[in-house]
Amino acid sequence: MTDAYDIAVVGAGVVGCAIAREFSRYELRTILIEARSDLGDGASKGNSAILSTGADTPSGTLECRLVTRGHARYLAEAPALGLPFLATGSLTVVWNEEELVRLRAMHDEMHAAGFRTGELVGPDFIRAKAPHLAPGAVGAIWEPEEGIVDPFSTPYAYALDAVTNGVAYRASAPVASATRHGGGWILDTPQGAISADIVINCAGLWADRVEALAGYADFVGRPRRGQFLVYDKSARPLLDTIVKPVPSPTYRGILIAPTVFGNILVGPTAEEIDDPDDWRTTREGLATLEAAAHRLIPALARHEITATYCGVRPGTDRPEYRIIPRPDANWVTVGGIRSTGLSGALGIAEHVAGLVLPEMKRAARKARAVPVRVPSLCAADARPWQAMMPADRAMHEIVCHCEGVTLGEIRAAMASPLPPRSLKALKRRTRAMFGRCQGFHCAARVQAIFDGAAG
Ligand SMILES: Cc1cc2nc3c(=O)[nH]c(=O)nc-3n(C[C@H](O)[C@H](O)[C@H](O)COP(=O)(O)OP(=O)(O)OC[C@H]3O[C@@H](n4cnc5c(N)ncnc54)[C@H](O)[C@@H]3O)c2cc1C
Repeated sequence: MTDAYDIAVVGAGVVGCAIAREFSRYELRTILIEARSDLGDGASKGNSAILSTGADTPSGTLECRLVTRGHARYLAEAPALGLPFLATGSLTVVWNEEELVRLRAMHDEMHAAGFRTGELVGPDFIRAKAPHLAPGAVGAIWEPEEGIVDPFSTPYAYALDAVTNGVAYRASAPVASATRHGGGWILDTPQGAISADIVINCAGLWADRVEALAGYADFVGRPRRGQFLVYDKSARPLLDTIVKPVPSPTYRGILIAPTVFGNILVGPTAEEIDDPDDWRTTREGLATLEAAAHRLIPALARHEITATYCGVRPGTDRPEYRIIPRPDANWVTVGGIRSTGLSGALGIAEHVAGLVLPEMKRAARKARAVPVRVPSLCAADARPWQAMMPADRAMHEIVCHCEGVTLGEIRAAMASPLPPRSLKALKRRTRAMFGRCQGFHCAARVQAIFDGAAG
C-alpha cells in the first residue's frame, strides 16, 4: 500500500526538520523521510555551532538573505522551544597591516549591505573581550549579535515540533527511487512506498544522489570535510567570545569558540573529499588545529583535548545555496546548504514554504500550533540534578558524571515521540558519554538503560 501525502520532505537534517516544521503550521499532509535511524545524523551533527548573522556571507546572495532571516527567527523562536543561545558575540581578528586593510574593506562592505552592528575595534577592545588571546592582534570586527547554539537539540526540536503538530515521520527509510505519478511522485523506501504531490529534496550531503533518482543532472555535490578539537571544560574560562579570521569566499577559516556545553572548540579544517561518507579525522588535520589553538590562545597548551570530531559540508560546484524550484515537476531542490545551514534553517524553511504554498490549493494555516519544548543541555542553565529534589528521584540519579546526566533525563529522552535509535543519538539528546571520559565510566550503564527502554 502507498501512503499518500501532499508534501514529502526527504532528509531530516536541520534543514529538512525546519522545513517540515514550517509545513506543520498548515492543513497539509506532510511527511519527513530520513534514511538513517535517527534525525540530524548527517552534516548537521558536525559543525561549529555558531549562529551567524549573515554579515560575513557574500552580500547579495540568497544564502546571505536566508542566514540573516534564519538568525532573526532563531532568536525569536528558540526560547519557546527551549533551545539555548549564548550571546558571546564574535571577534574577526587580524594580526598585521595587510590583513587590517582587508578587515576595513570587509567592515565597509558589511555596512553597505545593511549589517550595521559590526564595529571596527582596536587592540584594547580585543584584550578586554579576549584577555587570553595571544598578543599582537592589530584590529578586529566586533559583531555583538553572533553567538553559539546547541547543534544537536536544534534539528531535534524542529522535528519534534513538526511531528507534534501533525507531520508524519519515517526513519530508516532511504528513498531508493522516485517515479512520476500523475502530477506528483512515488518514492520507494524499504519501509514502503510514499506518494506525494510535491517532493522537497533536503538530502544534504547526499542531495545529488536523490536529484539523480528524479532525473536531474544539474546538481553537483562537492563535500568538504572539517575537523575539530574539543578542549576540556577546564579551558572554558580562557574564552568567552568567538574568535575567527577574515573569511575568504570559500573558507571561513579556523575559529576558536566556546560551546554551549562548556568546552572550547577549535576548527574546522577545509578538505575537498570525493566521498561524503569519509568522516575521518587525520593526524595532519588535528595537528594543524592544535598548532592554531596554541598560536591563538597559548594557555590552551596547558589544557587537555578531550574529543575530536569531523563534519562534512554539503558543498556543490557553486559558491551559494542551491535552492531550485522545479514547478513543472512539483520538485524542489534544497541543496548546497554548505557552511551556514544551522543559522539559515528557519530562513530557508520560510523561503521554501513561499515557493511551495502558492501551488497548494487548500493550504489553510492552522489556527494554533501545539507548543513544544526540549530540555536545555546548555551548561549555563540548571540541569535537573541541580534543581530542588523533584518528585521523580531518577532526575537526581546521575549516570554520566562528567556531564551530570541523570537516569531521569535518559529515560525521558527514550520516551520521546522521536526516541533516539542508537547510543550516538542518545548521546546527542542528553550529553551522556559526551564528557571528559567519553563514556569510559558510564557507557555500560547507558547501554543497559538504552537496551531496556528500546527493547
Ligand atoms: C565543519 C562544518 C562547520 C560548520 N559550521 C557551521 C556553523 O558554525 N554555523 C552554521 O550555521 N552552519 C555550520 N555548518 C553548516 C551546517 O552544519 C550545514 O549547513 C547543515 O547541517 C546542512 O544541513 P542539511 O539538513 O542540509 O544536511 P544534512 O544534515 O546532511 O541532512 C540531510 C539528511 O538527508 C538524509 N538523506 C540522505 N539521503 C537520503 C535519502 N535517499 N532518503 C532519505 N533521507 C536521506 C541524511 O541521512 C541526512 O540526515 C557547518 C558545517 C560543517 C561541516
